[in-house]
Amino acid sequence: MPTAIEIFKHLPKKNCGECKHPTCLAFAMQLANQKAKLEDCPYVSDAGKQALAASSAPPIRLVKVGTGKATLEMGDETELYRHDKKFFHPVRYSIIVPDTLAENDVVSRVQKANAMRFERVGQIMALDMVCVRNDSKDTARFVATVEKVSSSTELPIILASEDPAAIKAACLRISAKVPLISAATKANLTEMAAVAKEFKCPLVVRESNLNDLADMVAKVKLAGIEDIVLDFAPGTLKELIEKSTVIRKLSVKKTFRGLGYPLLVNAPAGNRGVTMGLISTMKYGSIVVFEELLPQMAIPLFVLRQNIYTDPQVPIQVKPGLYPIGNPTEDSPILFTTNFSLTYFTVLGDIDKSKVPVWLQVVDCEGLSVLTAFAAGKLTSEGVVHDMDRSGARTKSKKNVLIIPGMVARMSPKLAELTGMKIVVGPKESSGLPKMLKSLE
Ligand code: SF4
Repeated sequence: MPTAIEIFKHLPKKNCGECKHPTCLAFAMQLANQKAKLEDCPYVSDAGKQALAASSAPPIRLVKVGTGKATLEMGDETELYRHDKKFFHPVRYSIIVPDTLAENDVVSRVQKANAMRFERVGQIMALDMVCVRNDSKDTARFVATVEKVSSSTELPIILASEDPAAIKAACLRISAKVPLISAATKANLTEMAAVAKEFKCPLVVRESNLNDLADMVAKVKLAGIEDIVLDFAPGTLKELIEKSTVIRKLSVKKTFRGLGYPLLVNAPAGNRGVTMGLISTMKYGSIVVFEELLPQMAIPLFVLRQNIYTDPQVPIQVKPGLYPIGNPTEDSPILFTTNFSLTYFTVLGDIDKSKVPVWLQVVDCEGLSVLTAFAAGKLTSEGVVHDMDRSGARTKSKKNVLIIPGMVARMSPKLAELTGMKIVVGPKESSGLPKMLKSLE
């Protein structure tokens, strides 16, 4: 969003008050804070509206691939560094399905892609896209593979070929799914842009020289394509970091808007591909297309992505409440922890290991871990009792035993006083829970 002064330059400066603000400057300030709408001023010229629309456009265009629930959004980022605010649209991972594979192998590869899902701290981490690549250079074979993939997955599809005729033939079958077309090159730019325009599909523009890439993007835009993804085809890891950083800097600092689009990176097989995936996850890929992605490679990528694309100011939380772990009864103890997701799932795993049934009271601490919450005054004896009363913990468990984290042993006297329960101080580390819980039996 432009600043109030930038907006003010484009206002009529009549100070007539018809926008319900006393002066044009006051109106500009409200606009900059997104508390007013430009339409409220009836006197802004068309040129002014155009200039304001252009300057308020996101520095990196939001591009959508796929339809319905399977739609993936990418781009629309505003920050160079995650800690300045947050990154909004996670990098998407795709695997390749070459059209040279036998039909059974195509289905098997897509099924593996569909099944590539893991759960971590209550969130599902999964593969996002499937890229069908025209290695055979045979249009009929490419189209048959595209149709087979399309009928085997709900995941959005990337159509990878430099042959506009092959892309057009595939789009005739699946354009309703809004696939991403990859790629327009210097050799096919006009024809590929025409196909993307005809089928209203987003288009990848590929070129390693950034000046030439910007020229190509301008031509594609002139041809009527707005939804563009850039592939700057990095030859080395250094180039990957340098060019993706240059493009992000130019875009978010608004010094050059011509490359303000999501980035696609093709990652080769093996460790180099994983390294490119990791770098692109950090700086500043929107799609990484992997030649291969084994589960042991995917998990670290997914975890890195999850960490980078969470809001640094909002911890991942679980819902506060009482959780029965391992079919607890009235004779089972109550154990409490905080609602920081990582803490909850670690404690949950360790209780599971013990095989001892427990009522797990998750206390609302605004998503902070035990020691941080205690130090910040968010974890108090009164809060624990309040949440236990609210969840009915003491009506479910008659054992009259409350196990508390070892880190907050000093809460024992107050909790004993407030609840009349026997307070058992648990281990300082959750990993000590299995041994400790077994010893209670
Ligand atoms: S209506 Fe327009 S010209 Fe009048 S004060 Fe508001 S911004 Fe200024």
